[in-house]
Amino acid sequence: MRMPRVNGGMQSTFAPMEKRISALKDNDHTSGMIFDVQRFGIHDGPGIRTIVFLKQCPLSCWWCHNPEGIFHSRDLMYFEYRCTKCNLCIDICPEKAITPTPKGVAVDRDICNKCSKCSEICPTDALVGVGREITVEELMEIVERDLLLYDRSGGGVTFSGGEPLAQPVFLKKSLEECKAREIQTAIETSGYAPRRLFDAISKEVDIFLYDLKLIDDNEHRKYCGSSNVNILCNLKTLILEGRGKDLIIRFPFIPGITDSESNISALIKLLPSLKGVKEIDLLPYHDASEKYARLGLEYKMNVHTAPSELILKTTKERLEKIGFFVKIGG
Ligand code: SF4
Ligand code: SF4
Repeated sequence: MRMPRVNGGMQSTFAPMEKRISALKDNDHTSGMIFDVQRFGIHDGPGIRTIVFLKQCPLSCWWCHNPEGIFHSRDLMYFEYRCTKCNLCIDICPEKAITPTPKGVAVDRDICNKCSKCSEICPTDALVGVGREITVEELMEIVERDLLLYDRSGGGVTFSGGEPLAQPVFLKKSLEECKAREIQTAIETSGYAPRRLFDAISKEVDIFLYDLKLIDDNEHRKYCGSSNVNILCNLKTLILEGRGKDLIIRFPFIPGITDSESNISALIKLLPSLKGVKEIDLLPYHDASEKYARLGLEYKMNVHTAPSELILKTTKERLEKIGFFVKIGG
């Protein structure tokens, strides 16, 4: 069976995002596709936060640890250890995409239409549908449960993903509704979006958790599927607008890819130009191969171990030396 490549065949262009720019003015479409909402988060911005994970991402980073956030559509995850071989899913699948195996079942992803009938009938959650549509109103109902916690901790709501900018209409309306309730907002973003769209959204955002992965454009194209020119341009625009103080740079520390001396040196060269930025978070790689297998996706990384504490500490010290507050982890 073919293992779908992450974003395989997907054009990493702005075309789908461009189409939505005009829709930004029309907030009738107020539902979005998410794959999780986590309350009481402490790693994705200041204080205690609700983290909203939006589906869909235009990039295809080899190490992405949220592969269930790559596609806009609902995904199907299979947890073999939970399967009791009851075969209910086999009988209900309209596409005959599920077959028995000695250890459970196998899903043919080429013919699965992601209808979720199997996950709805599976008694043990061995098959789980990932992703659901939610309206802004429904989201606000969840977000409002922790108003007191946000106030007391200096927290708020973080929109993550996937790439939250890939659903700009839903994101903008959600940000506006948070603002109306005086809830602090953050987005966890690659910054990969058309300039006009980025500008329209950024005005509604209090804090940016902005990923910088690879400074060399060719490397970025190779490992993330697209050029970084627009990412750096959106970042510089934020700096020119005096938003540096609202930015936390996030650097995924990926062995053999982002941790090269040339990439770290290029980052150290770039950072002083980001006026107002004070904090950099080093995000150590962790192996996500199991998640990819459960989704039936190809995992391109051949490194499965986390970076050594020594190299993280050395990089932290180098960044501190040029005046930044550095955290290891989010
Ligand atoms: S999601 Fe639908 S088509 Fe896919 S395996 Fe399950 S029942 Fe079959
Ligand atoms: S319905 Fe669930 S438990 Fe039963 S065979 Fe299918 S995956 Fe396994």
